[in-house]
Amino acid sequence: MKILILNSGSSSIKFQLIDMPSEEVIGKGLIEKIGLKDASITVKNAKGKKSSLQLNIPNHAKGIEFLLSILTDVNMEIISSLDELSAVGHRIVHGGQAFAKSVLINEDVMHGIESCIELAPLHNPANIKGVQAMELAIPGISQVAVFDTAFHHSIPEHRAIYALPIDLYKKYGLRKYGFHGTSHQYVSLRAKEIYGDDKTSKIITCHLGNGGSLSAIQDGKSIETSMGFSPTDGLMMGTRCGSIDPGAIPFIAEHEHLDMAGISELINKKSGLQGISGISSDYRDVSSAADKGNNDAKLALEMFHYDVKKYIGTYMASLGGVDTIIFTGGIGENSAQARREILKGLEGLGIVVDDEKNDKVMGIEADISPDNNGVRVCVIPTNEEVMIARDTFDIVS
Ligand code: ADP
Repeated sequence: MKILILNSGSSSIKFQLIDMPSEEVIGKGLIEKIGLKDASITVKNAKGKKSSLQLNIPNHAKGIEFLLSILTDVNMEIISSLDELSAVGHRIVHGGQAFAKSVLINEDVMHGIESCIELAPLHNPANIKGVQAMELAIPGISQVAVFDTAFHHSIPEHRAIYALPIDLYKKYGLRKYGFHGTSHQYVSLRAKEIYGDDKTSKIITCHLGNGGSLSAIQDGKSIETSMGFSPTDGLMMGTRCGSIDPGAIPFIAEHEHLDMAGISELINKKSGLQGISGISSDYRDVSSAADKGNNDAKLALEMFHYDVKKYIGTYMASLGGVDTIIFTGGIGENSAQARREILKGLEGLGIVVDDEKNDKVMGIEADISPDNNGVRVCVIPTNEEVMIARDTFDIVS
């Protein structure tokens, strides 16, 4: 069964075509700069053959139309007709309190996703456009919504609610939701596939990319995560500040003469690695500036590494210990330096990295802890698309 996976953003759509249940990727690519002059679409087939076109793509619907015609282009050798497409799986960022698992999309579900727009104003509208564009292109095709928030529904209420007046929770659902759920779930399931029951009961997953979050997973269920009501909370990230003293917000607003839009821009776009280093939001850029002696870049890295370490300690308390720590996301998968610096000093808690193993690991699955060590430390590249394909396959079959 061939399933198209879509991750629709405001000006881009990432996609993969996955054959299920074999999980073989038979095509993938990206539609970029939708609505802009230099919009483009890139598609690769399983053999690596690539088609890259600059086109006029005014909206998501036109983007999907072009995508489907490239997927069925005989020269691309991906599929020969749209009849081969059995279903579409969508990454939907926010499922609010209503969606605790993936669902087949119908009118009620669309209303539910729309009602979560106020919780994710930057993401859900774009996700909805992806669903609508597909319905327009292939009316009646089965579409499944897979939510970033769903995996964290198992977090107990007392850990999810903020100590604000309870009415705000009751009226607006103001609570921790958590994000990156599909990634945290994928890597924890993968650990179980690789290691079986050996040290997979208490897992801490560290998804470190431009956005980043940690999750504490007990017997396959998320019991804590670092992002909260919004994806700004938790770790310091590329451009987001992560968790700060809420009392600082009115102070900044007053002294910097910022309204709420200005505050939102400051905490989401101008903070994190970018805000501290003044150089870049990209870990590699900040790291190379630090290597050349830039003190602000060094400070930004120290802050980032410490932040992740702090959450690992916190989640050991939540879980009552830890069996396995998993690194994933662009930084977690590729940076031996980040993994080493984050875990430095945790030897007393039984957490040790084998430097020789660690230095060799970039973007591959590997155990980087010494043999016979108490806590397993490993790297597992994430695969959110395959997780979406699995849920879609289960639901439509
Ligand atoms: P997103 O959250 O946008 O999906 P990614 O998971 O792709 O982000 O992660 C992007 C981050 O990963 C960037 O900060 C980038 O510098 C970092 N990164 C990618 N490759 C490497 C590498 N080889 N070494 C260190 N950091 C890396």
